Amino acid sequence: MRALSEHRERHLVARVGWLRAAVLGANDGIVSTSSLIVGVAAASPDRQAILVAGVAGLLAGALSMAAGEYVSVSSQSDTEQADLARERAELRDDTDHEIDELSAIYEARGVEPALARQVALQMMAKDALGAHARDELGISELSTARPIQAAWTSAATFSVGAAAPLIAALVAPLAIVVPAVSIASLLFLGTLGAIGARAGGANIGRAVLRVTFWGAVAMAVTAGVGALFGTVAA
Ligand SMILES: [Zn+2]
Repeated sequence: MRALSEHRERHLVARVGWLRAAVLGANDGIVSTSSLIVGVAAASPDRQAILVAGVAGLLAGALSMAAGEYVSVSSQSDTEQADLARERAELRDDTDHEIDELSAIYEARGVEPALARQVALQMMAKDALGAHARDELGISELSTARPIQAAWTSAATFSVGAAAPLIAALVAPLAIVVPAVSIASLLFLGTLGAIGARAGGANIGRAVLRVTFWGAVAMAVTAGVGALFGTVAA
């Protein structure tokens, strides 16, 4: 259930703020596209091949992010809808049991039994399904899954990130395209890391160091593979 656990993580991220989620999407775009460009450029310094690889990488990445997010958020949405439908039926068919259930939940949280029952009754009088959804199932308005929105957001933020190394590959002199794309990408990664850390209240220096280090590792690996293929081909 990788998709589901990843999902919960994304939802936490969404709660920390859209800015952090956007930063994460852009990070993916920068790292994967710059690695692809650096790999191709190291194999054959041919502007057209480099740009085709970069554009293909951007499109493939954006589509795969969108599809992955859509499937994953949809499955969460299906689960939530199924849970709510079951809960609605239980509330209709076995109200007494549902009152006991909600009272027990409040008791477990430290409310004394008589008061817990009173709270349960009052909350159920106003919005029974809402009370059970929140306190029994853990579904709140905030975490309600929106597949299409999640898919668009992922594709858009990935594309913005991927555009950075692509533009660097477009304007840099061919002879220095590998270092130019690498440096530009690491600068963008570092800047985004700082923005993300700031938004999330995390340590900025550590975030910048971590994101640029792993970005550099990814690019070094693909550049190495590209150089290897370039040598073999030549
Ligand atoms: Zn219930």
